[in-house]
Amino acid sequence: MNSLSETYQVIIIGGGPVGLYLGLCLEQADISYIILEKRSAPRPGSRSLGIHPVSLELFKELDIVSNFIRDGIKIQQGHAFVNTKKIGSLSFKSCPKPYNFILALPQHQTETLLEQALTKRNPNALLRNAEVNTITEHSQHVEVNFEQNGKMHTVRAKYLVGCDGKNSLVRRQSNIAFKGQQYPDTYIMGDFTENTHFGSDAAIFLCDEGLIESFPLPNNHRRWVVKTDNYIDDVSKDQLISDVFNRIGHSLSDAQHTMLSSFGVQKLIAYPMVKNRTILVGDAAHIVSPIGGQGMNLGWLDARDLADALLQVLGNTFQKHTILNQYQKRREHAAKNAIQRAEMNMKLGRKITTPFFRKQLVSLMLTPPISQLMANIFTMRGIERWPV
Ligand SMILES: Cc1cc2nc3c(=O)[nH]c(=O)nc-3n(C[C@H](O)[C@H](O)[C@H](O)COP(=O)(O)OP(=O)(O)OC[C@H]3O[C@@H](n4cnc5c(N)ncnc54)[C@H](O)[C@@H]3O)c2cc1C
Repeated sequence: MNSLSETYQVIIIGGGPVGLYLGLCLEQADISYIILEKRSAPRPGSRSLGIHPVSLELFKELDIVSNFIRDGIKIQQGHAFVNTKKIGSLSFKSCPKPYNFILALPQHQTETLLEQALTKRNPNALLRNAEVNTITEHSQHVEVNFEQNGKMHTVRAKYLVGCDGKNSLVRRQSNIAFKGQQYPDTYIMGDFTENTHFGSDAAIFLCDEGLIESFPLPNNHRRWVVKTDNYIDDVSKDQLISDVFNRIGHSLSDAQHTMLSSFGVQKLIAYPMVKNRTILVGDAAHIVSPIGGQGMNLGWLDARDLADALLQVLGNTFQKHTILNQYQKRREHAAKNAIQRAEMNMKLGRKITTPFFRKQLVSLMLTPPISQLMANIFTMRGIERWPV
């Protein structure tokens, strides 16, 4: 074994959006760290697209927000339809400035921008092609073994942060439970060249046959998300085109597609998120339904909170257990709130037997003063304080 035997204050496992952002926060806080990431580059495709104002405020703190704004599309309002009939619109323009919009940017572009910002500040912070195999906790430190280019290495740190996603190795090796459930809801989605008149606006269609969502993307593209009756393994362009056409009469047949996929949805929370010297953050700690676009943003909020907590804990405090326990309570509370908000979105998009009541409810949600509350909910305001 070729041992690097480096020692850090923190080891981050996983250089996805959350691990990269946590690295930037630790850099700012002058905490020594390394990020171990098994991939050679950000995963292609565009899973997440929504960056919420709360996250743009975090990026502003680090002085990295301008490149995101440069590359993304500002969604300042969304239009709600019941089948093809427009019920109203929800505007984010009255939300706190300057980030009174949701920024649409495909996840791989987000990760690339975070990586560029990080490596500019610390070129040695991110180790790619570094796959972690084992972690071992000792009383005063943690030890991590990883493989890079066929060689095994060992690094040590005071704390280990698992930002390694839904199937987290850190969570499994630490015997931390991941509790929750699978929802019955399933979706297909695809990115197509733009052929609507919505411009930079979003559109939500509550159809008798199930929800359709449509979001602008950079480079004159648009994301279509369609609720399906069952999970579809091998989604075809033709199916998405025909579902959209049959439900809302919009034809995508002349549009080019760049991505197609299907997904089921779960709610899962790790118990505990902090175990001795191991801390889980982002999807490793919680899974929220993508309907509402909160998962990655929730991970960034975790990371920001954790950077503050680690700064205190590493500063020789006598209250480290209390600080990390309080951190855990806040993150669990935020994850539960995000789950509730996502459930509200999913319920609105299900097939229903009482369309009249849904139409009345949606109209009410789009009317002041309730519309302001809805704008806050859809932009993740108050996620740590109040449930839906
Ligand atoms: C269809 C869809 C749409 C979504 N839309 C949105 C949205 O609009 N807004 C939003 O906020 N969220 C959205 N999400 C959720 C978002 O994609 C996730 O919450 C986000 O990717 C979580 O980031 P993460 O860094 O915690 O985990 P990941 O993105 O999963 O990153 C984990 C990283 O860890 C690495 N890794 C794993 N194991 C190891 C190991 N053993 N050694 C080294 N490295 C390892 C992986 O290679 C990966 O790079 C969406 C999700 C889906 C599926």
